[in-house]
Amino acid sequence: MRKPCIKCLLQDFDEAGYIEKIKKELDWMDEELRSPEELYRKRLDVCLSCEKLHEGTCLACGCYVELRAAIRKGKCPYKKW
Ligand code: SF4
Repeated sequence: MRKPCIKCLLQDFDEAGYIEKIKKELDWMDEELRSPEELYRKRLDVCLSCEKLHEGTCLACGCYVELRAAIRKGKCPYKKW
């Protein structure tokens, strides 16, 4: 399977393509690095009730919360999870 391009800008993706890219990143993530499903869901529940969430992005750090939450060692910049 082809690795994703890491030298692209957001403008290079259409919205549907970008969402697909995020999904592929999650699919390719090494299981050892990935959060267990229950932890992942709990983290996203916290993000969903956070005022810093904007269109899937954390306004505190600029990350895509679904990617940050999927990383086992990931941390919320405001220590909410
Ligand atoms: S990572 Fe933390 S600050 Fe960012 S949206 Fe989630 S809970 Fe809020």
